[in-house]
Amino acid sequence: MERLTGIGVSPGVVLGRAVVLTQRTEVMRFPIPPDRVDREVAALLRAQAASKQQLQDIKARVEHGPGSELAALFDAQLLMLDDPILVGRAETIVRTERVNAAWAVHRAYEELYHVFMSMEDPYLRERETDVADVAGRLRLNLRHGAKGPKELLSQVDGPSVLIADELTASVAAQLDWSRVQAFATDAGSRTYHTAILARSLKVPAIVGLHDASLRIAAGTPVVLDGTTGELIVAPTPEQIDEAHRRATRPRRKGRSQTEPGPVTTTDGVRIRLEANIELLEDLPFLNEHGAEGVGLYRSEFMLSGRPIASVTEDDQYGLYRSLIEQVAPRPVTIRTFDLDERQFAGPGRGPERRRTRPGLRGLRLGLANPDVLRTQMRALVRASAHGPLRIMFPFVTAVEEVRQARTILAEVASGLSRTHAGQFEPGQIKVGAMIEVPSAALAADLLAPEVDFFTIGTNDLIQFCLAVDRTDDRVSDLYEPLHPAVLRLIRMVRRAAARHRIPVSLCGEMASDPALVGLLIGLGLTEFSMTPGAIPIVRPVIEELSAAEARRLAGHALRLATAGEIEQYLFDALAASAVQRSPWS
Ligand code: PEP
Ligand code: MG
Repeated sequence: MERLTGIGVSPGVVLGRAVVLTQRTEVMRFPIPPDRVDREVAALLRAQAASKQQLQDIKARVEHGPGSELAALFDAQLLMLDDPILVGRAETIVRTERVNAAWAVHRAYEELYHVFMSMEDPYLRERETDVADVAGRLRLNLRHGAKGPKELLSQVDGPSVLIADELTASVAAQLDWSRVQAFATDAGSRTYHTAILARSLKVPAIVGLHDASLRIAAGTPVVLDGTTGELIVAPTPEQIDEAHRRATRPRRKGRSQTEPGPVTTTDGVRIRLEANIELLEDLPFLNEHGAEGVGLYRSEFMLSGRPIASVTEDDQYGLYRSLIEQVAPRPVTIRTFDLDERQFAGPGRGPERRRTRPGLRGLRLGLANPDVLRTQMRALVRASAHGPLRIMFPFVTAVEEVRQARTILAEVASGLSRTHAGQFEPGQIKVGAMIEVPSAALAADLLAPEVDFFTIGTNDLIQFCLAVDRTDDRVSDLYEPLHPAVLRLIRMVRRAAARHRIPVSLCGEMASDPALVGLLIGLGLTEFSMTPGAIPIVRPVIEELSAAEARRLAGHALRLATAGEIEQYLFDALAASAVQRSPWS
């Protein structure tokens, strides 16, 4: 028995088995039971085979097209894929540490990264990017067909208590909260945010346990008391009896978590929830969770490492048509390719690497390569015959860009009207701009007359507003959705949209954070698009909040000077409300 003490941030007592999740970088680590090890290794080997096939296909295409000298680059990647130092090492990690394959690949890559970085020769050091690409491809292939943490966690018998290094909203969206009945985190730095998250999820929670996620073995019974901040690891039989007597878990009231259908606040404000998707395989989740449409389809994921020129208009048309038909009569918002120059130029560079670079990217890159944009628009206009379509431009920074893009779209549509007369109605297609660069947010009133809708992309907006690259460990702590400047930009965009009577939604990760959605509703937003798994988590939070109260809280929060003060203010408002109620009610 061991007793750990942290800060209790959400009350209630839960007895369960520990599931341990650590999420350093963008890859999650979770333990797997012994009988899953062989299956996990098999998935790794399948991903290796799929990656090999893809690289051979790319190489063959490159060899027969312009730039054939680039083909040799893929020989290096193919050799790495076969080298035991990557996949072989990952297999060893899966077997010895009993962890998921994606994490094992990441670990093996990190080991190699350090070897490459210690090399004197700059040419050899640069080869690290090839290892990164191969590891990225393996992880992407593991994602297709792999089970997510939700399914893996569901294999834990009985109630469980999540022990994590930190809990972000995107991880929360992937968990099954009917099984995970409480959580404890190592991190204490985001206390208020985590506290609001826990209370919104209605689960007991402790933060600030330092290294609990490293010390507690998966499967160990634990008793978590969210009032006292105490976590008992491997409790004695007496402590278990006592925990049974005191066990409480705040219950959600209202609808079941997964029941689809329209969502309204307690004072009758209708909130629209749509889904962000990257792959067509995500579509079944849309129906399961009652998404009212696709608010963001990240079209660049269709490339999956293939050179852009190899994806024809007909390939794209087939994919968009299938997407639109499966979602109709609900609308689909397809974002034109959001690639940066490097992804655009370098066949083999998958879009799964987060785009953090400014410069020639998104719509700018499309306008600099109008043939690519035109091909995509032709495919989109043709696909619009099959259901409601919205086309969205990423990374818009100025009115001229939107005008140029709309001119191309109009030319494409009028050309197609001649060749495909009567098959579609281009006037029906809604055209929107993503607001994810501060210049677009600040000039939202000028952009609004040029488009049919806005979608706020907070992932990028926060990065560029605060000059923080989330993938740079040295500054990633400064990535702060509650920074007053970020909230002001959001309010500014919402107001500009309202003045020009165009709809505005928000599709960044902020939307899927149960701790933040109330604030966003308080800022006047009523449409959100999020990862499908977040919908059943955010829905009950919305159903318990009053939009009028949320507006009052948001109005006050916007007068505060720092993110820390805003976070604390929201937490205090929550603590002041009855324990079972939402902070926003
Ligand atoms: C965003 O920037 O918030 C967004 C949704 O776009 P992405 O995450 O694809 O950059
Ligand atoms: Mg973005």
